[in-house]
Amino acid sequence: MKKAASPKLLAVSYNKIAYVCPSIGFAYFPVSTPIFTTFFLLTTRRLLPACHSLLPIYLCPMTDEHFMQLALKEAQRAFDEGEVPVGAIITINEKIIARGYNQVEKLNDCTAHAEIIALTSAFNFLGNKYLPDATVYITVEPCLMCTGALYWSKVARIVWGAADEKNGHKHITDPHFPFHPKTIIENGLLKDQCGQLMKDFFKEKR
Ligand SMILES: [Zn+2]
Repeated sequence: MKKAASPKLLAVSYNKIAYVCPSIGFAYFPVSTPIFTTFFLLTTRRLLPACHSLLPIYLCPMTDEHFMQLALKEAQRAFDEGEVPVGAIITINEKIIARGYNQVEKLNDCTAHAEIIALTSAFNFLGNKYLPDATVYITVEPCLMCTGALYWSKVARIVWGAADEKNGHKHITDPHFPFHPKTIIENGLLKDQCGQLMKDFFKEKR
């Protein structure tokens, strides 16, 4: 399983200590390094009443698969609303900053694709017209319009699931690569699940 690109967060796997108190319940506080965590737990546990405890919490870095699963949830929302089931998630440093699903029918707008909705949401959230640190997860290969929007957004990385031979950009642009030269492109992640949702949708429509 491939880990999401975030060198800063991948370098460590510690995160917090939970302080469990019978009257207040849980309290969390961040820790700096695994060595400090061990030292802190060994020295502090003895000072606490027996009914209190400290637990180290090790958080694993989020994976691409995790975010694609969330993009699939967005696609399922589109499916449930009778829209072509495409979903998108945008992250920076493994934190979700925007999400979107296809809303062409609902908004009566043929440009309301999942990627466009997620990108607009990300620009608004950051107050920035470019997303040079962002990874965009899309369940299906982006169309030519969304590829253009992703180009102008200057995103760091794009990961998509299933290929879209009918409406994807590749049948128009192949063999040329229409993305920003600095953008890393990966595809095929959870492609069976992403593609199956599309197949189920169009099977129901027929
Ligand atoms: Zn599109």
